[in-house]
Amino acid sequence: QSKPQARVDGSTGVMFNDVAGIEEAVEELLELVRYLKNPELFDKMGIKPPHGVLLEGPPGCGKTLVAKAIAGEAGVPFYQMAGSEFVEVLVGVGSARIRDLFKRAKVNKPSVIFIDEIDALATRRQGAFQESSDDMYNAFTQERETTLNQLLIELDGFDTGKGVIFLGATNRKDLLDPALLRPGRFDRKIRIRPPNAKGRLEILKVHARKVKLSNTVDLSTYANNLPGWTGAKLAQLLQEAALVAVRKSHTAILQSDMDDAVDRLTVGPKRVGIDLG
Ligand code: ATP
Repeated sequence: QSKPQARVDGSTGVMFNDVAGIEEAVEELLELVRYLKNPELFDKMGIKPPHGVLLEGPPGCGKTLVAKAIAGEAGVPFYQMAGSEFVEVLVGVGSARIRDLFKRAKVNKPSVIFIDEIDALATRRQGAFQESSDDMYNAFTQERETTLNQLLIELDGFDTGKGVIFLGATNRKDLLDPALLRPGRFDRKIRIRPPNAKGRLEILKVHARKVKLSNTVDLSTYANNLPGWTGAKLAQLLQEAALVAVRKSHTAILQSDMDDAVDRLTVGPKRVGIDLG
C-alpha cells in the first residue's frame, strides 16, 4: 500500500511574475522551463538534461512558489510531496512511494517532481548501520536509509526519464546526506534568499494585485521599515490589512489599515476597533 500519493496539479497556474526578488536565479530557472518545454531539443543538441535542482533558503521565502512557477511557466504537471511523507516505520513503504512518484511523473512527462523538506527523508546517514537496543529506532533508521537509497537510484536512472525535473527544497542543507549532493544528483543549487528592502517592495506589489489597495498607501514605507519580514509574512500583511479594512467598512485598504495589520502581526492578535459594549 503506498498512500498518500503525490498531490498532482495539472497546471499550477503560478508564473514567474507571481514571485518577486528572484532576479539572481531567473536565468537558471528559465533554462529549466526551456528544457521542460522542449526536452527533445536538448537531447538533439547533445545537452545533458538537468537532473536534480536543490532550492535552499529560509522558510517562507518562496521555495515552493518558485517550484510551482517552473511547472506553471512550462505548463506541465507538478507532483508535490513533503519529505516527511516518506518517513514510515513500515518496511518498504517509503521506497515504494518514491518509485511510485517517479513512475507517475515519467508517464506524464514532461513534468516536475517537487519534494519539500527533503531533509526529512535525506538526512546524512550514520555510516555503517549501528544496531541500537531500541527496535523501533532500528526499524526507523533502516527504513529511512532504504528510502534514501531508492531516491538515489531514481536520480541516477534519470536519463531514461528525460523530460522530468526533480526539485527538492530545504532550509537545512547541512543535514543532507552528501551522496545526494554529488554531481548527477542535485547538480544545481538555487539559493532563495530572504528579501532585502527592494525585494520586500516587489513582493508587496505582487500581493497588492490580489487585494483592493487605496492609491494613497505608500508600500515602500512598509518595505523599508519591516526588515526580516519574509515573503510569507508580507503576503499575510496584505491579507490582514484587507480584513481590517472590511471590518472598518472601508472600500479599499487605507494606510491606517496597513498600520493596524502590522501591529497585529507584530504583537499578535488584539482587539482592534471592536466595541464590546
Ligand atoms: P517553507 O520552507 O516554509 O515551505 P517556502 O520558502 O517554500 O517556505 P513558500 O511556501 O513558497 O515559502 O511561501 C509561502 C507564501 O508566501 C507563498 O505562497 C507566497 O504567497 C508568499 N511568498 C513567499 N516568498 C515570496 C516571493 N519571493 N514572492 C512572492 N510571494 C512570496
